[in-house]
Amino acid sequence: MEKISLIIPCYNEEESLPYLYAELKRVTAEMTEYDFEMLFVDDGSKDKTLQLLRDMSKEDARVKYISFSRNFGKESAMYAGFCNVTGDYAAVMDADMQDPPALLPKMMEIIKTGEYDSVATRRETRKGEPKLRSFFARRFYRMINKVSEANIVDGARDFRLMKRSMVDSIVSMCERDRFSKGIFGWIGFRTYWLSFENVERVAGKTKWSFKKLFKYSIDGIVDFSNAPLKFSLWFGILAMLGFMGMLAFALVRTIGYNHPIMDWPLLVSIICLSVSMVLFSLYIMGIYVAKIFRETQHRPSYIIGETNKDDAVSK
Ligand code: UDP
Ligand code: MG
Repeated sequence: MEKISLIIPCYNEEESLPYLYAELKRVTAEMTEYDFEMLFVDDGSKDKTLQLLRDMSKEDARVKYISFSRNFGKESAMYAGFCNVTGDYAAVMDADMQDPPALLPKMMEIIKTGEYDSVATRRETRKGEPKLRSFFARRFYRMINKVSEANIVDGARDFRLMKRSMVDSIVSMCERDRFSKGIFGWIGFRTYWLSFENVERVAGKTKWSFKKLFKYSIDGIVDFSNAPLKFSLWFGILAMLGFMGMLAFALVRTIGYNHPIMDWPLLVSIICLSVSMVLFSLYIMGIYVAKIFRETQHRPSYIIGETNKDDAVSK
């Protein structure tokens, strides 16, 4: 029998886990032609998530868990999942039921046609999301698609069912600051996009603050594009043009009208403008340098504190 592995990152999900597990039991009972493995990755939760997972694994052999030694972030949790699943197929799924498990039979059916290597999901609308968050999310997707080689669909969720070959490719991308939406797009493969109506979280609160999302979007752009580095070039050209214009102006004024070469407010503002351009460019370069440094440290993406999987690996 073929096996489907479900990867479920959980961070303080004690409230939603019981709902999810009940739904998973229902859906998997319908899909009798497949074996299942549910790999819950506890991302250093501070509530009773780990205790719940221990209990669930005692009564259900399909439930496996990996618990991190601290909170490493959803990206690391997903990576731990990909590194440790054994199924012929794998799917990532949020713990809050915003990725409806009920879609699994349909997704499996599409993969089974043989036309596609993965079935990805996207929300049709951002209904129920804070307005400001939707606004920035839209700008982000438009920008990243313009500047990067990773083709990212607006509204795409991480909820995706894929074949083993795709899982292996994802595991082989071992960068530390991970941006999965970009990775999924970058590795290629034939993907079917399944749309569904946005569902609100079943219980608990979102774990993503605006600050976390902002940092994540910077990661997304820097990981898949060198376009920000070109800012320095444009600033350079702009500064050069400004300088030449000023020089011409000063020369005409001095020679033609006997005016002193330049008055100090003008001078100071030019200096301030140039310095700010240089500093801004330096900052952008700094982001890349920091990334290079972090990658060369070769630290693991996550550290396992506890697990019921004997062969679990840290990467
Ligand atoms: N999550 C995680 N680590 C984190 C933050 C979130 O593993 O540091 C998990 C969380 O438990 C959930 C999924 O990632 O299963 C998506 O998080 P959330 O629902 O809070 O995000 P949103 O749906 O609001 O974007
Ligand atoms: Mg959610």
